[in-house]
Amino acid sequence: MSLLSRSLVQCAGRFFPALQQRCVVCGVVLPWDDQQGIKLIPAGVCAPCRTLLQPRTGAFCPRCGLIFPSPEEPVSLCLNCRLSPPPWQETFFFGPYEGLLKDLVLRYKFHGQLGLSLFLRGLLQHALSRGNGRVFDIVTPVPLHPEKLRRRGFNQSLELVRGLDRKGQGTVVPKAIIRIRSAPDQHALVRAERIRNLKGVFLADSALVCDKSVLLVDDILTTGATAKAATEALLKAGAREVCLAVLARA
Ligand SMILES: [Zn+2]
Ligand SMILES: [Zn+2]
Repeated sequence: MSLLSRSLVQCAGRFFPALQQRCVVCGVVLPWDDQQGIKLIPAGVCAPCRTLLQPRTGAFCPRCGLIFPSPEEPVSLCLNCRLSPPPWQETFFFGPYEGLLKDLVLRYKFHGQLGLSLFLRGLLQHALSRGNGRVFDIVTPVPLHPEKLRRRGFNQSLELVRGLDRKGQGTVVPKAIIRIRSAPDQHALVRAERIRNLKGVFLADSALVCDKSVLLVDDILTTGATAKAATEALLKAGAREVCLAVLARA
């Protein structure tokens, strides 16, 4: 960009504050990055927010995403996954469900801050980069029950998978799996009850998933009851294998 057009853009930003780009996380006006000319900090996030959003690179179980207490531990299978692994093969996640990442997921999901979806999609893609360029046949979100979808207005997991096909992650197939009944509220239940509660909730379309490798996407992974029920439905419909991608692991 020429010196003239650069000063024009800077002037416009000074006199019309609405034109200034702000951090999508905290709203602070982003500085011009002088090293790279007029280019703004990538992804529209300020440096302090960026340091609070670091991906987890070690001390977790690659199968279920369990986060180990000591950050020095290597990435290795947890005891549960050695003894009775979940039906999915691998869990990709950006970071633990805490701090700023947790705030962002809650703002996005319960306060309808859809402006965050592009940014959160970037975090999910970052999590998937751990797969070393691995491509899935199809990418599909964990579905919401239609009634919940009407109340919330959007499916947070569907918004997260948009664009993953352009990133070469696999073909996005939004309705490969559907909810055929709503599950009573899961919050007050212990894990075994949650799993029972979700039996028969999901149905996968075998015409879409048979013999396919599937990447199942959700916003967070907590007890794994939902992921287990959805994965089992996909495998029952003939999916070859299922992996899981979430923003945060609780
Ligand atoms: Zn910020
Ligand atoms: Zn594990």
